[in-house]
Amino acid sequence: MTASPQRAAEFAGDEVGRHETLNSISANHSTAPAESSFLPGPVLLLGAPGVGKGTQAQLLVTKYGIPQISTGDLLRGNIARGTQLGMQAQQIMSTGKLVDDSLVNQMVLARLHEKDTRRGYILDGYPRTLDQARFLDATLADLALAPNLPVVAISILVDFDQLLQRITGRRICPVCKSIYNVHSNPPAIAGRCNVDGTHLIQRPDDTEAVFIQRMKTFAEQTAPVVSHYRALGRFQEVDGDQSVESVIAAIEASLLRLRQAAHQQLTTSN
Ligand code: AMP
Repeated sequence: MTASPQRAAEFAGDEVGRHETLNSISANHSTAPAESSFLPGPVLLLGAPGVGKGTQAQLLVTKYGIPQISTGDLLRGNIARGTQLGMQAQQIMSTGKLVDDSLVNQMVLARLHEKDTRRGYILDGYPRTLDQARFLDATLADLALAPNLPVVAISILVDFDQLLQRITGRRICPVCKSIYNVHSNPPAIAGRCNVDGTHLIQRPDDTEAVFIQRMKTFAEQTAPVVSHYRALGRFQEVDGDQSVESVIAAIEASLLRLRQAAHQQLTTSN
């Protein structure tokens, strides 16, 4: 399913759901709604490979008990299970290009239908193209899948040299998914996960050559997604070149600010 730009624009803000929720928040509270009313909700984490989307998503998962939906992880899971989708995706992923929108969209749609998404979720690495963003906006409006808070997009920024070091030094535990970096966050015992002792792996696409292609893909295909959410007023950039704790604090402050602004806009226009 691909929505037309006009249809996407109509649905983009999940206006009906947001309207109802924010009105019911106002009706139930004589004063301003508690900050907790605006969190966690659906969150899109955008950013180039290596900016720390996975790390930040894991922190949000722990804090709010909502799922992280990483399209990269879902695709790698399909490859590991040898599914048809996995077989189609494997070759493309190894070159740093993007898997077809229709395949990824259907995979995300199925995942969003699972019950654990009702209070919110973190989409990590999706949408990555304008068509995916339009599909997501239209899907959420059509199916009323999201919790009734507007989707907001957070883009984490880190400069190129730093990203290259992060990507080529990244090691992952294939069991618990803990993320390490041989330069900045090495495990206590070289090559072993601190949590469960599993042998750490390097993703096959975490090489310098594939990283450069992934950056090119990001600039060409994902930059328009940023413009899309910026134009909708549901977008914030966060500096990813600071401590993990500072980045998560900036993300949470941004989520709150964006949702409060949407609420304010609705109450003043009523
Ligand atoms: P990631 O784990 O997010 O870095 O993604 C690894 C690879 O999976 C990407 O380089 C793409 O080949 C593929 N991929 C992940 N998410 C998407 C997406 N939303 N659309 C298309 N391809 C994707």
